[in-house]
Amino acid sequence: MLKDQDRIFTNIYGMQDRSLKGAMKRGHWDKTADLIALGRDEIIERMKASGLRGRGGAGFPTGLKWSFMPKQSDGRPSYLVINADESEPGTCKDREIMRHDPHTLIEGALIASFAMNANTCYIYIRGEYIREREALQNAIDECYDAGLLGKNAAKSGFDFDLYLHHGAGAYICGEETALIESLEGKKGMPRMKPPFPAMAGLYGCPTTVNNVESIAVVPTILRRGPEWFAGFGRPNNAGTKLFAISGHVNNPCVVEEEMSISFEELIEKHCGGIRGGWDNLLAVIPGGSSVPCVRGEKMRDAIMDFDYLRGELGSGLGTAAVIVMDKQTDIVKAIWRLSKFYKHESCGQCTPCREGTGWMMRVMDRLVRGEAEIEEIDMLFQVTKQVEGHTICALGDAAAWPIQGLIRNFRDEIEDRIKAQKSGKISAAVAAE
Ligand code: NAD
Ligand code: SF4
Repeated sequence: MLKDQDRIFTNIYGMQDRSLKGAMKRGHWDKTADLIALGRDEIIERMKASGLRGRGGAGFPTGLKWSFMPKQSDGRPSYLVINADESEPGTCKDREIMRHDPHTLIEGALIASFAMNANTCYIYIRGEYIREREALQNAIDECYDAGLLGKNAAKSGFDFDLYLHHGAGAYICGEETALIESLEGKKGMPRMKPPFPAMAGLYGCPTTVNNVESIAVVPTILRRGPEWFAGFGRPNNAGTKLFAISGHVNNPCVVEEEMSISFEELIEKHCGGIRGGWDNLLAVIPGGSSVPCVRGEKMRDAIMDFDYLRGELGSGLGTAAVIVMDKQTDIVKAIWRLSKFYKHESCGQCTPCREGTGWMMRVMDRLVRGEAEIEEIDMLFQVTKQVEGHTICALGDAAAWPIQGLIRNFRDEIEDRIKAQKSGKISAAVAAE
């Protein structure tokens, strides 16, 4: 278990003063100019050495992503854009950073922007996060007043401006290119990649889009050293990580832990165990709604990192939003609810997603009511395969994978439901309640 002194987010529960004064007392903004004086290449090398992988869900190596930005300007400005549009169902970790520890993010934004030669950074925050944007804006204002932002930011010799931009509640605007479109004042529709944003991003200029947590850990990694951060977790899965655990545990919480902690330890130490005990665990979605669910019995010994969850369990760490479901859960209905969500949030730009999410949701409707035929289970699986990998952005995959997880892991439950309805054991009305 992670020791208190190894936690990066020392005010994640808001028990201490979140103002600049309080943040400085906890060690933030301490000799930031010295970190910047390391130079661009050295900062990027240290971030690579730390092994940090993006905390927004995809797990792309952060230092490598920064290294794609041009070293010499070709006349176009470079931008850092921080993705604070945290909308993945189950995910509420960045919210806690912005509410209670906003200075970790602002200091990280300055250092990361310097490393990528970006004099301007935008934080795109989810529209529903009203308190969080107030907390963040107050912190930004404090930094401008204290000379930590603006001209010669933090006496580093680097001019840097930071703007907070409010989203308007569309899930798809968390996709990095849709977010860029939205920031440009257009409808939030994903772009084809490549070109990746590092080549042509905001206003057609070199841009890196990073998640809030990825940026907020940067100052501490540089202060304590990349080897310190790399010392947590298994190889290729380094660092400490915020886990957001919700659902049928005794104490749902957001907690910073070591990567590669076992699921059992995570739940026992921080959540007071599974509601009704381990025998009552039905299923877990380990990484936010976009990754497939896993049967409870396979999860107990699971290692909570990118490689184990994907390689061994066919799921993923995603945003590390751990959704726990006990045996009182109607798992078919839970996944049906996600299908409805993805159908609603599809931007409609590409056919497999626009039509496929509707198809999948309608079959899920019938499955929930027990009105489908057994053969439709395979057909539904086939439809998910037609959507997966055939769309412009990851929303298509995200809509397909929960259903694939359901069919792979809970086929018996789906069949029993159909049979029970057909034999009159449950009525359609009850099933759909
Ligand atoms: P992705 O794998 O396409 O890209 C990840 C990042 O790496 C992007 O910034 C991309 O530009 C960069 N990248 C990848 N390959 C590159 C290359 N060859 N050259 C340059 N840059 C490259 O994934 P994505 O679509 O950005 O994210 C999908 C994930 O987002 C899902 O797995 C899901 O877990 C997560 N998600 C998170 C939230 C949230 O609220 N945090 C919401 C929805 C989805
Ligand atoms: Fe839009 Fe869906 Fe296509 Fe993404 S996959 S671009 S959300 S239609």
